[in-house]
This record gives sequence, structure tokens and C-alpha cells, in this order.
Amino acid sequence: RNLEIERLLQAHEWAAKFYHFLLKNTEHGKAAMEYLRSRGFTDKMIDQFQIGYAPNRWDTLVQFLTKRNFDLAEMERGGLLTQRNDGTGYIDRFRDRVMFPIANRSGRVIAFSGRILGEGQPKYLNSPESKLFSKSRTLYNLHQAKTAIRKQRQIVLFEGFGDVISAWEAGVHNGVATMGTALTESHVAMMRNLADEVIVCYDGDSAGQAAALKSIPLFENVALHVKVAVLRDGLDPDEYIKNFGAERFVDQIIEGAVSTTKFKLIYLKKNHILLEEDGKVAYAREALEVIAQLPSPTEREVYLKELSTEIQIEYETLKQECNVIRQSV
Ligand code: ATP
Ligand code: MN
Ligand code: MN
Ligand code: MN
Repeated sequence: RNLEIERLLQAHEWAAKFYHFLLKNTEHGKAAMEYLRSRGFTDKMIDQFQIGYAPNRWDTLVQFLTKRNFDLAEMERGGLLTQRNDGTGYIDRFRDRVMFPIANRSGRVIAFSGRILGEGQPKYLNSPESKLFSKSRTLYNLHQAKTAIRKQRQIVLFEGFGDVISAWEAGVHNGVATMGTALTESHVAMMRNLADEVIVCYDGDSAGQAAALKSIPLFENVALHVKVAVLRDGLDPDEYIKNFGAERFVDQIIEGAVSTTKFKLIYLKKNHILLEEDGKVAYAREALEVIAQLPSPTEREVYLKELSTEIQIEYETLKQECNVIRQSV
């Protein structure tokens, strides 16, 4: 058993409790608490996700860890502290940020992500890669979600912490998130071990929708069934829930998740004005490329018929063109 890892886990656990305490019970945490309230975080959510606050000082955590006899150089390697510019010691890595503890699968804290209060850069500051923490192998909230995931054999994948937390409050207990980086094969392999189906529920902005599209082949490669929950008007799941309520989120967005083919067609359509002939023809061609790739004739027929109704072109015409595409590949 690696003793350094054990000490780092211990320090992270202490730090999470400390930041949570500072948020809830001290004057330092007041502005952060108001910020969280203004975003609709309840006490229950703050407790359940052990949200905290790192004060706007250089040595809050340094003092705390020193009192508990932790080795500061080790804590720097573990990502809790950073070295002073002049090399004369250590300062807190996280200052004046709302703190989201990141746990491993067994629920032990291995990293933090700190959000700035309001506007500013970087919006989220993450712990660096360390002996404890590998971003590309960590899914936020997996430790709490795994029970529901195993039961339902299904995972809902979000982009952000706020999305996971709001969705949890809305009754979606099988939600996890990547840590802002792209989805990796390791993430997908972890998900494959627990579930048979993933609902990708990324932000409704163009970055989120592009990321959703990019995620599809990764899931298909491991035969994990994928659906996409599509948010319109650029909202993210957290904002959607806060604007329209939990019930509508579950009924319309989660239950309304569409097949990957349907999602690709929705995605393509955004670039075209169907009221113009050119736009209609271009959309039809791109849509047919997608449909032509489907191996099942039944599936092709389903989508060709939908397309036919949508753009008012005869089914037989579309089918002919689809077959031409299939023969050319
Ligand atoms: P909020 O609702 O607090 O504004 P968000 O979760 O909606 O944040 P997005 O901009 O949608 O934020 O980004 C999604 C996720 O990407 C974040 O939750 C975070 O994990 C990650 N992320 C965003 N910005 C950064 C950044 N500057 N550095 C590192 N990670 C980031
Ligand atoms: Mn986003
Ligand atoms: Mn977002
Ligand atoms: Mn958000």
C-alpha cells in the first residue's frame, strides 16, 4: 500500500470537510453561499455534493495542513498547494472559489474543481494530474450514481458539475460528467462495465452539440447503446431545469432522448434553410449520406419515410438516391 497515496487521500478528505465547513459556517463563506443560492443550490444539494468554499487568502489550507502535520511538498505534488514563484514555500492552489470535491469510484476525494464566483477566467480551476487523479479516467459523481446505474443499466452523461447536481435533484440519479476534457476511451470503458445504454445530455450550445456528435463513435466502438438528449436554445441541463422545472426535464429531455441517427439529422438540419431549394437539396444529400450508412433496411426505411415527409420529396426518389450512395461505397 502506497503511503503517499494514503496521506494524500487523507488530506483531500480533510480539505473537503474544511472547505465545506468554511462555506456553511463562516463569514468567509458568505459571498459564496449567496452566489450558490442565486444559482438555486439548496442546502440539501450543497451537503449531498459536499460543496465548499476556498477563501481569498494565500495560506488558509497551508495553515490547516501544517497543523495536521502534512508534508507541504507532498501536498503540492498532490495538487492541493502550489509553490511560491520565488521557491520559498507553498501557497493554496484554490483561492476565492466555490469548491466541488471530485471523488473516485469508492467515494474518496481525489481532486477538486473550483469555480470562480461570477465572471472571470479560468471559470473552473481543476486539480492537476497526480498520483491520485487522472482526468481522463474520472467521472464526476460515479460513486453516488453507480447504484442507480447498475439497477437501470443506463447512464446519463453530462458536461458539467452543475448539470449533474441539478439533475440529481430532479430525480436523475444515474448522471455523471466528464471534467471538461473530451470524453476518452477510458471513460467509455468504465461506463461499459456498468451499463448497456448511455444518454448523452450535453449543453445545447454549438460546442455541446458538436461534442455529443463526436462522442457517438466511441460508444458504438464498444457496443454501448447511445441516445442523445437534445436541448434547444443553447441552454445547458442545469439552466433548463431551473427555467422549466424537473418534471419537464425528465419527461421531455431525458425521456425524449433520440436515436443517434435522428440526432445526426437534427444536427445537420441546423445548417440549412429548408425553405430554399438549395438548402433543401443540400440537407437531403447530407441526410441521405447518414441514412445510407445504416445496415438495416428497416431502419433505412423508417428514416427515409420521415425525411420524405419532412422535406416533401417522394419516398421512392429518396430511396433510389440512397441506394446509389450505398453502391458507391
Ligand atoms: P457554470 O454553469 O458554472 O457556468 P458549466 O458547467 O455550465 O458552468 P461549461 O462552460 O458548460 O460550464 O463547461 C462544462 C464543463 O467544462 C464545466 O463543468 C467544467 O468541468 C469544464 N470547464 C469549463 N470551463 C473550464 C475551464 N476554464 N477550465 C477547466 N474546465 C472547465
Ligand atoms: Mn458548455
Ligand atoms: Mn454548461
Ligand atoms: Mn451551466
